[in-house]
Amino acid sequence: MSTEDTQTKTICPYCGVGCGIRVREGDERGEMQFMPWGDAPVNEGRVCIKGGAATEVVDHEDRLTDPLIKEDGEFREATWEEAYSHIVSELERVRDEHGPDGMGFYGSSKTTNEENYLLQKLARRYGTNNVDNCTRMCHASTVWALRTSLGMGAMTNSMADLEEAADVLWIQGANPGEQHPIANSQYFRQAVLEGATVIQVDPHANKTTRSFKIDETERHQHLQPKPGTDIPLLNIVLKTILDNHEENPGEGWIDEQFIEERTEGFEHLKETLADFDKDAAAETCGVPLEDIELAAEKYAMANNAAIFTGMGMSQHTCGVDNVQNEINLALVTGNLGKPGTGVNPLRGQNNVQGTCDVGAMPNVLPGYQLVDDDEARESVEAVWGFEIPDEPGLTNVEISHEIGDSIHGLYVMGENPIMSEPDGNVVERRMREDLEFMIVQDIFMTETAELADVVLPATTWAERGGTVTNTDRRVQRMREVHKVHENTKHDRDILCEVGTRLFGEGFEFADSEEIFEELREVCPIMYGMTYDALGEEGIQWPCYEEGDEGNQYLYEEEFETENGLGQIEGVVHQEPKEVPDDEYPLVLTTARVEEHYNTGTMSRRSPTLSRQVPENFVDIHPADAERYGIADGEHVTLRSRRGEITVKAQVTEDTKEGVVWTTPHFAASSANRLTNDVLDERAKIPEYKAAAAEIEVGIEPADD
Ligand code: SF4
Repeated sequence: MSTEDTQTKTICPYCGVGCGIRVREGDERGEMQFMPWGDAPVNEGRVCIKGGAATEVVDHEDRLTDPLIKEDGEFREATWEEAYSHIVSELERVRDEHGPDGMGFYGSSKTTNEENYLLQKLARRYGTNNVDNCTRMCHASTVWALRTSLGMGAMTNSMADLEEAADVLWIQGANPGEQHPIANSQYFRQAVLEGATVIQVDPHANKTTRSFKIDETERHQHLQPKPGTDIPLLNIVLKTILDNHEENPGEGWIDEQFIEERTEGFEHLKETLADFDKDAAAETCGVPLEDIELAAEKYAMANNAAIFTGMGMSQHTCGVDNVQNEINLALVTGNLGKPGTGVNPLRGQNNVQGTCDVGAMPNVLPGYQLVDDDEARESVEAVWGFEIPDEPGLTNVEISHEIGDSIHGLYVMGENPIMSEPDGNVVERRMREDLEFMIVQDIFMTETAELADVVLPATTWAERGGTVTNTDRRVQRMREVHKVHENTKHDRDILCEVGTRLFGEGFEFADSEEIFEELREVCPIMYGMTYDALGEEGIQWPCYEEGDEGNQYLYEEEFETENGLGQIEGVVHQEPKEVPDDEYPLVLTTARVEEHYNTGTMSRRSPTLSRQVPENFVDIHPADAERYGIADGEHVTLRSRRGEITVKAQVTEDTKEGVVWTTPHFAASSANRLTNDVLDERAKIPEYKAAAAEIEVGIEPADD
């Protein structure tokens, strides 16, 4: 066999950019080799440190190798037959004793569209809409605002239409320099080389700031607001634009024709901002007013301006309103429906977009069809052959809150809620003490799997085939590049077996392509796709008919709302639910660095990634460090009302005075032992980005 014959093209398992990679299988169980895929559609051969290290976890010694069943508090190895029998009898028991809503199902953005499609179908066949995925923790509010005001819960444009078209890149609450490195180095950098201006809005200076030397030029700007003040900052931008239009109507501050023909709600925005006090708002944000006004002018005067939005915007109790204000800005300036514009969430995990698209959410079926829309539900029921519950279910954080009350069992596929959910100490206690039964399918023994009753060894990204959907809606095929580890199984095969044993029919699929064929039947935005048509390039949804080439950007003619109009709605500042006081005088905010990925299940086991950042740390401003007497590199205890962690202090001006910044990546010192589990009322996303905290010095590091 030639070298070329053994190289297979697939998709990087880490972030939502969706880079193509090529892998050469070793002999027998020999070492896999990562190879560049030179003409990959998204990245043209480039990868970041995570993509280059992706093969390191596949044959890791910690891989789960056999099904495990817990007896008397200890795991014992079991056969698959024993595990399946136990799972089926417990799922039936929970349903008999508590009804179908006694279970919660967690999908996984690290698995394929086909596997998440099966998981949500299994939940609904079981009789519950209590199914969700990690988008609840990252972009649920973004999806909500985009779907409600524009029609679809996804990036309106594409990375590819930036480089030629965008004059301004407005990056708010996102850090592509670390979290989406290839998007940053390939698309954003090219746009900047073509003359684009970067406006970064972030409480923390980071690799994005440094990659464009934002703080060193007059062309670019870094606005550094206090966490939780994005609405007043954008209201200053909007007020500046509206006032300048009033004074100089011919200068093009707003797009009157676009507002007139394609939107509604402009009057509401004007009324909301009629008495808005820009000076007071700038004080609230902690940013000089003239800097925000200058940024407003740059955005408004651009031919094409694109907004990129991240978890700094979405992870607030006002997350939906934060993103709505970005939509307001794009709509009043006509920056939608054409290349190089839009409101564009940068999605975290490699299939978090697809996991939502295929219906692993409590309120929507595949293709974002609402479960309480009779017509939509009946069209899916006609294919599935069973009745779907007609009320939205619980989100994953609500499921977690309900453990011991209405929730008695969990089915967790490839997720680690103890690490990913806020107020992690309480999540752990509830799972340990109040749960009757938990199944976890994963590749490693996670913090959550430790508490399960049955643990099933699943396959990694390298061993499975299927499709994933990247941040700009591109559905791409993943291909098997490595032999399946003995006695492990694909998540899809586990779900098919459990579904068939429970229900007799509806879950008999020979492979991923058969599952995809059923998925496209019930998912109109993907109906036109087939495995053959996806090929190596993939297709960006919506793709309604076979032969459609997909869509690089959305809403060229009209929005996908009921009346085809984009919805403008003025919003007002809402403080975070927990603000500093005498006891907890600091604002705690959280994020990740380039080498971190989600709950660290894979990245903490990667030697390359672990070497770079071996322990957790907290960024603290020099003025605060002096006040507390903290030296750079000293270990400190960071404390909130919910717990405490020990981390190394990094004294740096990257963060603002009064704001401390840390990460959720390490188990014992995860920021999520401190974060607040209060939710946005509509999207139910937790407020990870702002809590009150205190620091104590003179502490030895904890073992992580
Ligand atoms: Fe993988 Fe994202 Fe890095 Fe691309 S940018 S190689 S998808 S982690």
